[in-house]
Amino acid sequence: MKGLTDKPSYIIELLEGGVTLEDVIDGHICEQALVEKSAFVVGDLGALMRQHVRWQSVVPRLQPYYPVKSNSSPAVIEVLASLGLGFVCANKAEVSLVLEHGVPPENIILSSVCKQLAHIKHAAKNNIQHLVCENEAELSKISRLHPNAKLLLQLTTEAHAAETSMVFGSSLKSCRHLLEAAKELGVQVVGVTFHIPSSCQDLQQAYTHALSDARCVFDMGMDLGFNMNILDIGGGFTGSEFQLKQVESAVRPLLDAYFPQLSGVQVLAQPGSFYVASAFSLAVSVIGKKVVPRHWDSLAQGENNEDTEFLYYMNEGVYGPFSRKLLGNSIAAPSVHKHVLCAEEAVYPSSLWGPTLDQLDQVVERCLLPELSVGDWLLFSNMGVSGLEEFSCLSSSPQLPVYYTVSTSDWYEMQEAGVALDSAMKNFSMLQYSA
Ligand SMILES: *Cc1c(COP(=O)(O)O)cnc(C)c1O
Repeated sequence: MKGLTDKPSYIIELLEGGVTLEDVIDGHICEQALVEKSAFVVGDLGALMRQHVRWQSVVPRLQPYYPVKSNSSPAVIEVLASLGLGFVCANKAEVSLVLEHGVPPENIILSSVCKQLAHIKHAAKNNIQHLVCENEAELSKISRLHPNAKLLLQLTTEAHAAETSMVFGSSLKSCRHLLEAAKELGVQVVGVTFHIPSSCQDLQQAYTHALSDARCVFDMGMDLGFNMNILDIGGGFTGSEFQLKQVESAVRPLLDAYFPQLSGVQVLAQPGSFYVASAFSLAVSVIGKKVVPRHWDSLAQGENNEDTEFLYYMNEGVYGPFSRKLLGNSIAAPSVHKHVLCAEEAVYPSSLWGPTLDQLDQVVERCLLPELSVGDWLLFSNMGVSGLEEFSCLSSSPQLPVYYTVSTSDWYEMQEAGVALDSAMKNFSMLQYSA
């Protein structure tokens, strides 16, 4: 690698010719093996653009507004901003971050359910007009501190309530109440927002309810004289093209019926995981190992040692980058990084643990892996959805190194897609990777 001249906030390695992401990971593992063996993250910025292309081809009517909470790495914000996305921010820090990347205030939505006064004032001062509101206490704060705001009413959905197990958003009845209160206070309401999480079992039913409720709120708002023109259908896109098409086929006929193109209603969505999940991988090393007599009763295929189970301890766990596990998400089994992996290697039931020796710090309950040694590396893909900042005070290494890469072909395509080199990409410092 070549050295740097000035100090960018991050470095991107441009992968030339046949250099692959795997080569880059290999390189960093070798580097890390010489130092303290810290876990590290590799981000493929080309993946962000490829997801964007996919989004535009499958759901062209849905304008993507990226929720910053999903992953607030500056490189992610920079690329998505230059691809022209809007942003959903939950607080003042996220708003400032996005503004620093040159995003126009009209492309920002301040979304948190319960906003601190200072954050509302900050939005007003920076000309951020679109605020999400779900109750009267919020409405009265906003009317005092940001009288020119344009509100999106947060509509509750069963699916979201089930996931968060708390009441979130307003029911239809309280929406009427809120609209009337807004009218009295002279605050504008311009639309509706809701969120259906990707864990939802029955997409068709969930979107049918949510969109017909949204139509009712639009009608109530218009009756009261509001200019209702923004519909935000939230997130819940896993990142797979298959699931995106499923959502599309659930949503499109409903939009055509309730919010046809001719109505002039602008339809937004908040794809978070969709853009970032697949763009980041995490490499961790094995720091400890235990062999225990096996107590699983199910017999999986491919196990040829049925009496043994391996417990491996890794240098990161649920109090670090695997915090999603504590929120009830499961973490997929990693791949094993070995320079020489022989094809016929036996696999054994294994479980993967973080470094704390705490019962909660189990990252993968069960998977089949070849026998590993202390010092081996494991590679977890689909690690792009945040977790890197949360719990960082407890993490063994609060700031994991992040290495950004982009392949030359993706890079050229990004430039063609209008990702402007001169202004928006000014922070990028291109390095050639010599494997
Ligand atoms: C987290 C969140 C999102 C992003 O969800 P994804 O499933 O990652 O797309 C969107 N909207 C709201 C309200 C959220 O809380």
